[in-house]
Amino acid sequence: MTSRRRFISLVPLLGAATLARAQAPAPLVDPKDPTAAALGYVADATKADKAKFPKYAAGQACSGCGLYQGAAGSASGPCPLYAGKAVSAKGWCSAWVKKA
Ligand code: SF4
Repeated sequence: MTSRRRFISLVPLLGAATLARAQAPAPLVDPKDPTAAALGYVADATKADKAKFPKYAAGQACSGCGLYQGAAGSASGPCPLYAGKAVSAKGWCSAWVKKA
């Protein structure tokens, strides 16, 4: 097989691998990540440190935050504050802003 033919035969595989990587869900933010820790991020909003972050109010969660970019009903999704990571829809951090 010529190298050109071999290359052409591999193109669909490379495309599939690229597509799979593009669709892979981003890893969840580690609450111990320095940015997450500074903002008080927790994967379960009910576990927010209410003493340290008194602005937290019951019912607030990433899914209701204006910065949350996950699809409606998704378990997790991107947040611009944590590039390359996903936050839990049930999570919370002190940058929470009410979704418009
Ligand atoms: Fe969740 Fe909003 Fe904080 Fe992002 S900014 S982690 S979506 S509460």
